Amino acid sequence: MKKLVNGILEFRRNHLIGYREKYAHLKLGQSPDALFIGCSDSRVMPNVFASTNPGDLFVIRNVGNLIPPHCDYARNYSVAAAIEFSLTQLPTRDIIVCGHSECGAMRAALGAEKVEMANLREWLENIYCPSEHEMDASQIVSDPSLSCENRLSQLNVLRQIEHLKTYPIIQETIENRGLQIHGWYFDIATGDVYAFDEEVGCFVLIDEEEGGRILSTLE
Ligand SMILES: [Zn+2]
Repeated sequence: MKKLVNGILEFRRNHLIGYREKYAHLKLGQSPDALFIGCSDSRVMPNVFASTNPGDLFVIRNVGNLIPPHCDYARNYSVAAAIEFSLTQLPTRDIIVCGHSECGAMRAALGAEKVEMANLREWLENIYCPSEHEMDASQIVSDPSLSCENRLSQLNVLRQIEHLKTYPIIQETIENRGLQIHGWYFDIATGDVYAFDEEVGCFVLIDEEEGGRILSTLE
């Protein structure tokens, strides 16, 4: 907590002046064109690894970057409400579902840790755990030597995108506004970000080449 208060003081002393104009403009409203759905994990900071600024991203964060399927949305109205708000009130053209390495939610879903907390246990049921064989056979992972937990994290991103597509409002926005959905994976140890490349059929490092390819597909 002390770090946060000192951070506010440091921000006021050294950076606020540079943000005055930006914040004065943002007071009039927000118009982020991307919805970022990521894990609550403190190490996942899209504003750092994607160099975003205030007003750039509308964000949903929860344990495991999970989206309950539409038929089951009552398990978490906050996710459904944020999706609805972002697609009806904001100029959202892209949704990013971002998993990450060393995710405690994946570890728990794999049974590596016993989850005593009832709410957390129920929430984690939104993670589909493939069999070990399915996991080994999966071609979508960025690196075949990934640990089980990191493999599951990448598989989980695609599963949550499937859940997202069950929302009628998602389908409508894809048809009417060309909404695009992207699957990302952040590697904590290296700071690298991977994107699921549908043409290649697996997660690919966003370097100059892949970044250029993604940029060419965006409006
Ligand atoms: Zn996580």
